[in-house]
Amino acid sequence: MDTDSNKQNFIGTSETQLRERFTNWKPYRIHQIFNWVYHYGCRDFSKMTNLSKTMRAQLNDHFYFSTPRVENKTHSQDGSIKYLLKLDDGALIESVWMPSDSRKTLCISTQVGCRLNCSFCLTASLGLKRNLTAAEIIGQCMAINEDLSQDEAITNVVFMGMGEPLDNLGPVVDALRLMTAPEAMRMSTRKVTVSTSGLVDKINEFQKENIHINLAISLNATDDQTRDRLMPINKKYPIKALMDCLKNYPLKPQRRHTIEYVLLEGINDSIDDARRLAKWLKGIPCKINLIPFNSFTRSEYRPPADKKTLKFQDYLIGQNFSAFIRQNRATDILGACGQLAAESQKTSCV
Ligand code: SAH
Repeated sequence: MDTDSNKQNFIGTSETQLRERFTNWKPYRIHQIFNWVYHYGCRDFSKMTNLSKTMRAQLNDHFYFSTPRVENKTHSQDGSIKYLLKLDDGALIESVWMPSDSRKTLCISTQVGCRLNCSFCLTASLGLKRNLTAAEIIGQCMAINEDLSQDEAITNVVFMGMGEPLDNLGPVVDALRLMTAPEAMRMSTRKVTVSTSGLVDKINEFQKENIHINLAISLNATDDQTRDRLMPINKKYPIKALMDCLKNYPLKPQRRHTIEYVLLEGINDSIDDARRLAKWLKGIPCKINLIPFNSFTRSEYRPPADKKTLKFQDYLIGQNFSAFIRQNRATDILGACGQLAAESQKTSCV
């Protein structure tokens, strides 16, 4: 890797930025380069034989390639792998690869740490260290795909790792465009999900970008008092404002939002909660993912008993909602939702 200070990382550089840099190039030229890099995994401009020598030299003068480095891997009994990745400045993040019969899902991070301070999430204990760049976001997919065999290659991506994606909107949008562009990584928009704690203003901004990936909303409570306690961001964007925003979100036909609901024993798992949840979600095209709380040391919460979780689900199904109990993956390696905290585990991982 050549990190000459005048050069820029090609990974994550958007089509708009490239057009600004090479104003006399035809757009298809940029698509050709994207195809080399994101589809064929080429990391050497001199090998891009359908470009002229001058173009290749110009690219070489302006750009280098860098993706996060795999620092450590932890294997779960369920087949998942938690990757500890090191960034160019030494910062550490985690991504989790989860295989099932039909798909191989990668859960990626968007920030080093997080500033939302949700009381049930381990990442919160780090605070926000910094935002990831578009290169570091899409680079997680590239670095991990390179580590995997061809039949293990990533088919789905969820933005559910460390950080709040919509608190880092610009780089997340750039990464999403490259991931889903037919001339770049070629992922179907149906196979990419961005999860948010519900930053209403940012959801409205995101919607203007016209990227039709799936949106998952972490609701996690059915009254403002409880949600304020679990997710302080609720004080800024209370439940009603969030629900109104979702009602007005222009979804493509056949598409629906995912509502995530972390079940915490004695806090948000009663039948009254299920009733209120059904009421809030009336008229919003959605499916509901119930996530029994994933524990970590020093956490004040516990997951409900299975029977209670099933009762909660049954109520929602009885109200004609699609409600699923999300099978928790990688819990034995602290690789599940809300268990990622690369920085604090650094000493035990390396
Ligand atoms: N900031 C984003 C994405 C990261 S969290 C968001 O809030 O959506 C991804 C999902 O994990 C969210 O639905 C969150 O509510 C859930 N989660 C966080 N901590 C958890 C825990 N300890 N157990 C189960 N789910 C958790």
